[in-house]
Amino acid sequence: MTTIAFIGLGNMGNPMAANLVKAGHKVVGFDLVPENLALAREHGLILAEDGPSAVKEAEVVVTMLPAGKHVLSVYGEIAPWAPKGALFIDSSTIDVESARKAHAIARENGLSSIDAPVSGGTGGAAAGTLTFMAGGSKEAFALAEPVLQPMAGRIVHCGEDGAGQAAKICNNMILGISMIGVAEAFVLGEKLGLSHQALFDVASTSSGQCWSLTSYCPVPGPVPASPANRDYKPGFAAALMLKDLKLSQEAAQAAGAATPLGAEAAQLYSLFNAQGGGGADFSGIINFLRGAKI
Ligand code: NAD
Repeated sequence: MTTIAFIGLGNMGNPMAANLVKAGHKVVGFDLVPENLALAREHGLILAEDGPSAVKEAEVVVTMLPAGKHVLSVYGEIAPWAPKGALFIDSSTIDVESARKAHAIARENGLSSIDAPVSGGTGGAAAGTLTFMAGGSKEAFALAEPVLQPMAGRIVHCGEDGAGQAAKICNNMILGISMIGVAEAFVLGEKLGLSHQALFDVASTSSGQCWSLTSYCPVPGPVPASPANRDYKPGFAAALMLKDLKLSQEAAQAAGAATPLGAEAAQLYSLFNAQGGGGADFSGIINFLRGAKI
């Protein structure tokens, strides 16, 4: 049994922490929202008054927060209170620069750390099947792996500090671009009188095949589990896709990489969000491309 502090008990953090409790760990939780704390108590977490009291006896600290500014502020607040040698795991999706700063704060306080963002959404968080993409030293990764296991389907060590965040935003840039591509093809097919099923049957076994088509098809019918079959209820909200695409574009600018389709995808998701699509699943962008009312 490991004593774990879990900070950030929202849509993802709460079910992830619940899986750590189920695995037999002592989990001390903190969040700013009383409803999230109440749910965490039901999941068997011990509640702390604030961040510093959550971490003061922790061997491992997991954070699952909205963005880089929250992670840096929480790290600044709690790192001095954690026992020396404790392992900090940040699973939030944040920009690479903030992730590297978070590692530096941990190091200055005698802690080890990894960035370990996830893919798999709230369903994967509840089922304990998330993919973790980890960045940090080999030693820190070796310490983190058994802690991540009860929350994970797959754990990949991507490289040094920030490499987990880099992998996450590159993957999601592919996803955003490919979803728009698949949606455009269905919209064109509709105009050409092609049935959804016929296009799916051909493209899913041809060179147009990709995850956005075969696992997450943006039209109802061909893939019964995709959000298109439940009026685009997320799933993975378009607002979160926009967040990740913006992170990819910030990183591309900072690193001097040309990502013209990533930039275009960010613009299209910005427009979809501005028209009220942010709460819909990101595959709902097909309705925006059709010019339909959101
Ligand atoms: P969420 O908004 O539901 O949860 C974030 C939680 O952090 C909230 O409960 C908030 O109260 C808490 N928080 C903020 N500041 C805090 C502070 N100073 N101290 C303590 N708690 C604080 O968000 P989420 O959907 O759980 O996502 C968390 C992270 O995971 C984000 O970075 C998101 O991009 C990423 N992510 C989300 C999904 C998804 O499908 N929801 C999938 C993959 C990755």
